[in-house]
Amino acid sequence: MFRRAPKRGDNTKYYEILGVSKDASQDDLKKAYKKAAIKNHPDKGGDPEKFKELAQAYGVLSDPEKREIYDQYGEDALKEGMGGGGGVHDPFDIFQSFFGGSPFGGGGSRGRRQRRGEDVVHALKVSLEDLFLGTSKKLSLSRNVLCSKCNGKGSKSGASMKCAGCQGTGMKVSIRHLGPSMMQQMQHPCNECKGTGETINDKDRCPQCKGEKVVQEKKVLEVVVEKGMQNGQKITFPGEADEAPDTITGDIVFVLQQKEHPKFRRKGEDLFVEHTLSLAEALCDFQFVLTHLDGRQLLIKSNPGEVVKPDSYKAINDEGMPMYQKPFMKGNLYIHFTVDFPDSLNPGQVKELRGVLPAGPSTQLTDMELDECEETTLHDVNIEEEMRRKQQAQQEAYDEDEDMPGGAQRVQCPQQ
Ligand SMILES: [Zn+2]
Ligand SMILES: [Zn+2]
Repeated sequence: MFRRAPKRGDNTKYYEILGVSKDASQDDLKKAYKKAAIKNHPDKGGDPEKFKELAQAYGVLSDPEKREIYDQYGEDALKEGMGGGGGVHDPFDIFQSFFGGSPFGGGGSRGRRQRRGEDVVHALKVSLEDLFLGTSKKLSLSRNVLCSKCNGKGSKSGASMKCAGCQGTGMKVSIRHLGPSMMQQMQHPCNECKGTGETINDKDRCPQCKGEKVVQEKKVLEVVVEKGMQNGQKITFPGEADEAPDTITGDIVFVLQQKEHPKFRRKGEDLFVEHTLSLAEALCDFQFVLTHLDGRQLLIKSNPGEVVKPDSYKAINDEGMPMYQKPFMKGNLYIHFTVDFPDSLNPGQVKELRGVLPAGPSTQLTDMELDECEETTLHDVNIEEEMRRKQQAQQEAYDEDEDMPGGAQRVQCPQQ
């Protein structure tokens, strides 16, 4: 059926998932699947992803035709629909067909298979003050709920008919010819019944939901933002997303998004704030008032006689963010100091300062020593910009070199 072999993909993963060798017999596969599926069943607290993988692997390898395609071309070939649809199976279907019911006793608790509805995710903008103090926000949302009049059946009588378009399967299959001897089979939800597999007689339609089975409902959710919550943290309302027949309702999830604060920056439990001192303040004591996120006025001052250097940090303990679920504990508040130097001084100021500040080595040069030196001139530079420009010039020179025909030949493989 295939003329051209597609790219060879990974074809060992399924064997590894089941923990069997590539020449495992059908019996080996069965045993391996049975053991692993019971161990990993979500009803027994197993990991649903692992359970799904096991079902996928077993579903393919237990079917000789699919196994051959998988061995030859890998997983992608099956996904592309070769070999008559290797689509994804419901892992619970495979499990049940294997055991013919629940292996855990007490009757098949899953009876009819249910798909899980999608979660609805909303971003929730909060200020740093909100995260510091905690707050609650009321949000009005509209959602689908099962129609109360027909209990989500869509009809007055509760009856429905098989969809003629898909014979009740909810899926339609189409075949696409890719070439003279190659075709692709694709499955997609039936458009006539929107994939439900059933239709409702016009006269029997529920008057409240018009046969849609669900109606819209407005709901107000109160989102409680707790002290110390983080940017990106999720607040979940389980089972509050759209309802649909035969579906486990998904969750509404709010993801906190902290708006940037004009003054404070947060890093975990700590807060950072910038403060600029004049040179006089940096040398001869300072004090200032900082309004905190909760409105308290903090008096911040230097120790007498202390000199604050440019680009230095100081910390105040327990004035950072409250810790999540332990709000009585707090991080630190860090202050980053910048010192604003004057651009120039007049000769009188220079003389006065020189009188009080510790002398540097420049005053210790003798006239003799000075006579032997050459004079230079200092000028201002923006060092980052200067270095960037130089690097760019160097790169351009290098590129030009590469463009030369001789250069291009050198990097090619020495064939011929
Ligand atoms: Zn249909
Ligand atoms: Zn209804």
